[in-house]
Amino acid sequence: MNFVNNQNFPELPIIIHVNRERCDGCALCVDSCPVEALKIIDSRRRPGKKIVWVEPTKCHGCGVCQATCPKEAIALPGLGPDDLRTYISQAITLNQSI
Ligand code: SF4
Ligand code: SF4
Repeated sequence: MNFVNNQNFPELPIIIHVNRERCDGCALCVDSCPVEALKIIDSRRRPGKKIVWVEPTKCHGCGVCQATCPKEAIALPGLGPDDLRTYISQAITLNQSI
Protein backbone atom coordinates (compact mmCIF):
# COMPACT_ATOMS: atom_id res chain seq x y z
CA MET A 1 0.00 0.00 0.00
CA ASN A 2 1.37 3.38 -0.97
CA PHE A 3 0.07 6.29 1.13
CA VAL A 4 2.80 8.77 0.30
CA ASN A 5 5.28 8.83 -2.50
CA ASN A 6 8.11 11.20 -3.10
CA GLN A 7 6.31 12.77 -6.06
CA ASN A 8 4.07 14.51 -3.50
CA PHE A 9 7.07 16.24 -1.98
CA PRO A 10 8.76 19.13 -3.74
CA GLU A 11 12.51 19.02 -4.16
CA LEU A 12 14.09 21.79 -2.12
CA PRO A 13 17.59 23.22 -2.51
CA ILE A 14 18.49 22.29 1.07
CA ILE A 15 19.74 19.23 2.90
CA ILE A 16 18.82 17.85 6.28
CA HIS A 17 20.61 18.50 9.55
CA VAL A 18 21.01 15.56 11.96
CA ASN A 19 21.05 16.26 15.69
CA ARG A 20 23.82 13.90 16.82
CA GLU A 21 22.70 13.93 20.43
CA ARG A 22 19.15 12.84 19.61
CA CYS A 23 19.89 10.25 16.92
CA ASP A 24 20.16 6.73 18.35
CA GLY A 25 20.93 4.98 15.05
CA CYS A 26 17.60 3.13 14.90
CA ALA A 27 17.68 3.32 11.06
CA LEU A 28 13.95 3.95 10.65
CA CYS A 29 14.73 6.90 8.42
CA VAL A 30 17.10 5.01 6.13
CA ASP A 31 14.45 3.06 4.24
CA SER A 32 12.20 6.10 3.99
CA CYS A 33 14.62 8.06 1.81
CA PRO A 34 13.58 7.85 -1.85
CA VAL A 35 17.11 8.52 -3.10
CA GLU A 36 19.07 6.32 -0.65
CA ALA A 37 20.89 9.31 0.81
CA LEU A 38 21.02 7.94 4.36
CA LYS A 39 23.09 5.24 5.97
CA ILE A 40 23.99 4.17 9.50
CA ILE A 41 27.60 4.63 10.57
CA ASP A 42 29.62 4.33 13.78
CA SER A 43 29.58 7.53 15.81
CA ARG A 44 33.01 9.08 16.16
CA ARG A 45 31.97 11.14 19.17
CA ARG A 46 30.22 8.30 21.02
CA PRO A 47 32.19 5.05 20.75
CA GLY A 48 29.99 1.98 20.39
CA LYS A 49 27.01 4.03 19.20
CA LYS A 50 25.48 4.28 15.75
CA ILE A 51 24.26 7.40 14.01
CA VAL A 52 22.68 8.26 10.70
CA TRP A 53 24.78 9.95 8.02
CA VAL A 54 23.48 11.88 5.01
CA GLU A 55 25.13 11.94 1.62
CA PRO A 56 24.90 15.66 0.77
CA THR A 57 25.11 15.15 -2.99
CA LYS A 58 22.03 12.88 -2.91
CA CYS A 59 19.72 14.63 -0.42
CA HIS A 60 17.25 16.96 -2.12
CA GLY A 61 15.45 18.12 1.01
CA CYS A 62 12.12 16.34 0.49
CA GLY A 63 11.55 15.98 4.27
CA VAL A 64 10.34 12.36 4.29
CA CYS A 65 13.05 11.26 6.73
CA GLN A 66 12.21 14.08 9.12
CA ALA A 67 8.65 12.80 9.32
CA THR A 68 9.89 9.26 9.98
CA CYS A 69 12.26 9.96 12.85
CA PRO A 70 10.70 9.19 16.27
CA LYS A 71 13.41 11.16 18.05
CA GLU A 72 12.90 14.37 16.06
CA ALA A 73 16.62 14.14 15.32
CA ILE A 74 16.31 15.33 11.73
CA ALA A 75 15.62 18.92 10.83
CA LEU A 76 15.18 20.69 7.54
CA PRO A 77 16.15 24.35 7.71
CA GLY A 78 12.97 26.41 7.55
CA LEU A 79 10.62 23.45 8.03
CA GLY A 80 9.42 22.74 11.58
CA PRO A 81 7.52 19.68 12.85
CA ASP A 82 4.14 21.43 12.64
CA ASP A 83 4.82 22.55 9.07
CA LEU A 84 5.80 19.01 8.21
CA ARG A 85 2.65 17.47 9.70
CA THR A 86 0.54 19.79 7.55
CA TYR A 87 2.72 18.99 4.57
CA ILE A 88 2.31 15.21 5.06
CA SER A 89 -1.41 15.49 5.64
CA GLN A 90 -1.72 17.32 2.32
CA ALA A 91 0.45 14.73 0.57
CA ILE A 92 -1.69 11.85 1.90
CA THR A 93 -4.87 13.59 0.81
CA LEU A 94 -3.40 14.18 -2.65
CA ASN A 95 -2.27 10.57 -2.94
CA GLN A 96 -5.69 9.22 -1.91
CA SER A 97 -7.40 11.35 -4.55
CA ILE A 98 -5.25 9.96 -7.37
S1 SF4 B 1 17.72 10.15 12.54
FE1 SF4 B 1 16.01 9.35 13.77
S2 SF4 B 1 15.10 7.67 12.54
FE2 SF4 B 1 17.16 8.11 11.72
S3 SF4 B 1 18.55 6.68 12.75
FE3 SF4 B 1 18.55 8.60 13.94
S4 SF4 B 1 16.95 8.32 15.51
FE4 SF4 B 1 16.61 6.75 13.95
S1 SF4 C 1 15.29 14.97 3.04
FE1 SF4 C 1 14.54 13.44 1.54
S2 SF4 C 1 16.28 13.13 0.15
FE2 SF4 C 1 17.11 14.11 1.99
S3 SF4 C 1 17.82 12.40 3.28
FE3 SF4 C 1 15.71 12.91 3.91
S4 SF4 C 1 14.36 11.53 2.72
FE4 SF4 C 1 16.41 11.54 1.74
